[in-house]
Amino acid sequence: MQILRDAYFHPDLQVYQARPGYKSSYLPASEGLASTCDASVGEARKRSRGVNRPFLKFTGKTILVSPLFFAAYYAYRVYDETNPGPQQPQTATHASGNRKKTLVILGSGWGAISILKNLDTTLYNVVVVSPRNYFLFTPLLPSCPTGTIEYRSIIEPVRTVAKRRPGEVTYYEAEATDIDATNNKLTLKQTLGSDAVKAHGEDTLTVTLDYDYLVVGVGAQPNTFGIPGVLENSCFLKELPDSQKIRKQFMDCIETATLLPKGSAERARLLRTVVVGGGPTGVEFAAELQDYIDGDIRKWNPEIAAELKVTLVEALPNVLNMMNKKLIDYTEGVLRDLGIELMTGAMVKKVDENEVHAAIKQENGELKLVDVPYGLLVWATGNGTRDIVKNLSSKIPEQKNATRGLLVNECMMLQGSKNIFALGDCTFTKNPPTAQVAQQEGQYLASALEVLARVDDLEYQLYSTEIAGIEKERVQRRLHREQKAIQPFKYQHMGVLAYIGSERAVADLVWGDQSFFKNLNNISVGGTFTFFFWKSAYVQMLLSTKNQVLVTVDWIKVALFGRDVSKE
Ligand SMILES: Cc1cc2nc3c(=O)[nH]c(=O)nc-3n(C[C@H](O)[C@H](O)[C@H](O)COP(=O)(O)OP(=O)(O)OC[C@H]3O[C@@H](n4cnc5c(N)ncnc54)[C@H](O)[C@@H]3O)c2cc1C
Repeated sequence: MQILRDAYFHPDLQVYQARPGYKSSYLPASEGLASTCDASVGEARKRSRGVNRPFLKFTGKTILVSPLFFAAYYAYRVYDETNPGPQQPQTATHASGNRKKTLVILGSGWGAISILKNLDTTLYNVVVVSPRNYFLFTPLLPSCPTGTIEYRSIIEPVRTVAKRRPGEVTYYEAEATDIDATNNKLTLKQTLGSDAVKAHGEDTLTVTLDYDYLVVGVGAQPNTFGIPGVLENSCFLKELPDSQKIRKQFMDCIETATLLPKGSAERARLLRTVVVGGGPTGVEFAAELQDYIDGDIRKWNPEIAAELKVTLVEALPNVLNMMNKKLIDYTEGVLRDLGIELMTGAMVKKVDENEVHAAIKQENGELKLVDVPYGLLVWATGNGTRDIVKNLSSKIPEQKNATRGLLVNECMMLQGSKNIFALGDCTFTKNPPTAQVAQQEGQYLASALEVLARVDDLEYQLYSTEIAGIEKERVQRRLHREQKAIQPFKYQHMGVLAYIGSERAVADLVWGDQSFFKNLNNISVGGTFTFFFWKSAYVQMLLSTKNQVLVTVDWIKVALFGRDVSKE
């Protein structure tokens, strides 16, 4: 074997092979072995000359060139995003002479920004109104309180999104407080932040705004289900300030507990965090917090880390109830292994300053009342209706049953209206209230609104200008085609992803048309590989290259230095 190996790699033997008939004097082996050797060397030569060499060359070149290609691609994207081109200004009329309609979009969340990103904004005078002047990438919000991700990494200003559109977009930082659907008029209120802008001592500024088309994408507010004490004593996890409040309160609890005697009930209370809601948000936050305790607080403050406790309370019998049974069992196993206390089947009845009072259903069906002391209470349960949604639905008879959200038809048009659309969490449809749904609805509405603009322009040409003959027929045919172009919205479910702690995630993924594949298009996985998939999926979904780079850098920073344990 040794000789054979040498025959392959010895340079002299290769010279020998190059001259057929020449007998080697270097090879101290039998004829048979020499001929085997000849064959092997010949084959190797053939392979290296014939099939392998070009392939290897190609692979090598591809490996060398790919990083350059990616670098160039990302450099182009960064340049493109940071240097937006000129925009078509807002005008009173289109080139055809038709009046340009005003489209007002309420909100700067998943639904609203999806419209903005996909709409040809030259077709309307577009105005965005939202009290939040940035888009927030909510799926990574549970990573913010622990400092795994810096909050600036997951926000994108509305104005940068607007500036990248072909037609000029106006943005007003204000809250819509009234919608007059009869006169197409909005009342906007801006809460004046600092003394410098407070006019005549007023805290708010109120203005009105006319619209031709209105899109309501105001989302939802946390739902307390009317449980006493929740609003006063909980931290929600919906917006950035919520995340900052959670961080501050958690750190406050640690610092105060440090001063208290070990073993005291008050110290134990302060060091216990209760998370209510076993959906993806609650699970992800509890998991992130436990990671933070185990990975960072344990290193710098081991005494306190040993006493910190996370309790996850869920009213249903399981957490992540929308996932399949195997993933639920896996998740609950991982959470328990991490040391998170799971309280499933527990209905919160009341919350006071220091305790959550819950009723847990026993196996015999009886209810057991438990009092859970807490230092930090995070409320991560369902969605409630915003005041502006109640205001709108109270004015339209067709919306009188809209207690859980606005009722829309299959084209996202508000029932009882001809020019108001609604999407996302503020609506009540058969689809779940998720970013995925809101984003797809936004894409759909953007193309529907483009069709509406074209229909409007064609109708103008047909009825308000003096076209005749072939030209008129052509416009009529186009109008007919455009009117048929708006198809009902169809949601394409892609699946659910959730981080469950200790660098593990679960994914219940779906692709293709479910009715066609009959469950063959479903994959349920969990573990470390899924965690990397979770990371890459979310990085891909972030709104801009800037966000993608910042989030990746945040993860690298945590891997290198750990999370910060200071109380900012
Ligand atoms: C922590 C967290 C994690 C989540 N993770 C996921 C996930 O992993 N996957 C997923 O699919 N979904 C996830 N979701 C759900 C998802 O974020 C929502 O379904 C989605 O944000 C709904 O989009 P939206 O546009 O309807 O509302 P939002 O994104 O909530 O946007 C509403 C907008 O309306 C504005 N607004 C409010 N009131 C007014 C008013 N009166 N006038 C004008 N504007 C107003 C708000 O400022 C905001 O800009 C998560 C939610 C949270 C809170």
